Amino acid sequence: MSRHRITVVLSQAQGKHPAKRALEESIVAALLMEPGLEVSVIPHLYDLGPDHTGRRFLGSVRGDMVLLSWLFPRAAFWVLDRDGIKGQWGETQLKPPADDDEEETGEPQPAKGIGSLDVPDRTIYCLDLRDFNQHQPYVDEIRRVAEEGKVRAEAKQRERAPAPIVQLGLNLRNGDTPVADALGSPNGAPGSPNGAPGFTADQLLQAPGRRWYPVIDYSRCTNCMECIDFCLFGVYGVDEHERLNVENQDNCKKGCPACSRVCPEQAIMFPDYKTPAIAGAPIGAIGNLKIDLTKLFGGAEKDALSQAVEERDRELVADGRQAVGTAVGLPKRQEHKQEKPKDDLDNLIDALDALEL
Ligand code: SF4
Ligand code: SF4
Repeated sequence: MSRHRITVVLSQAQGKHPAKRALEESIVAALLMEPGLEVSVIPHLYDLGPDHTGRRFLGSVRGDMVLLSWLFPRAAFWVLDRDGIKGQWGETQLKPPADDDEEETGEPQPAKGIGSLDVPDRTIYCLDLRDFNQHQPYVDEIRRVAEEGKVRAEAKQRERAPAPIVQLGLNLRNGDTPVADALGSPNGAPGSPNGAPGFTADQLLQAPGRRWYPVIDYSRCTNCMECIDFCLFGVYGVDEHERLNVENQDNCKKGCPACSRVCPEQAIMFPDYKTPAIAGAPIGAIGNLKIDLTKLFGGAEKDALSQAVEERDRELVADGRQAVGTAVGLPKRQEHKQEKPKDDLDNLIDALDALEL
């Protein structure tokens, strides 16, 4: 039985962690045996600059896509969107094992953000490679997604007036390609069904330098502009539609997540940051951890706003500028607001950082 054509892209971990590489290789090996999939491997998505071949390859993919990465799915999806690789959010049924035992934190909050613009009619599913250490759950989920896509595509076909059906075909590599070759094979050789130009494995997997910049979740961003006021490094701007835009990504100060603490909607993510809420964890997903940090750390943790101000001052001073404390760019709305308690896990990690253990 044929499946809906779908492109699967695996975004590698930074570095050469053997366990991570082993998982990546076993997933690719398993997927190459699956009909109906085009499988490609690129370096760590977040690090890809505009000229990287991996990014150009992603931009050339048409149709539904599954992205496997070592990032939270929300972060990965909005990194893609930022790079102009857009689609509808694909709801995955893959849940990390721990979720089974955890109390549900309620339905996902309805999106109230301004959303993305010019989103094509295709679906992008993002899977987190940290959820399982075996390939099978990922393969099963990709099979399910392929079937789901097929049903959706058939329904659309029925709705349309009769039109010539484009035979997309399947660019399948049923086990006839060594996995080592496939780890980097674009499966988009010239003339391939997805129309992707050909990229060699070397081009695709060229190691990019590490990057650091904020990623905006536009399903949450309300365009309040508080981040523009707060950031004193010229990272943010507005686009031609007067929407918040990360204008100068690489002006952002490496390792600093200050503005993500200021955003009232948790719309700013730093996908490589160590604390889950800032790195793009699902909102509320880890909020039910009951850790009494006050007892553990003597109530030393700071509120988010003070921490952001401190982080910003540190970067200003490092740049040879004056620290400004709370005098500049603080969101008026937040100035007198009772701080919501930070995510407990974030607090725990921040407190451990403070202890420099
Ligand atoms: S502070 Fe948050 S919600 Fe407001 S514009 Fe910036 S990203 Fe959007
Ligand atoms: S982390 Fe700092 S430098 Fe980077 S965008 Fe936010 S406020 Fe600006």
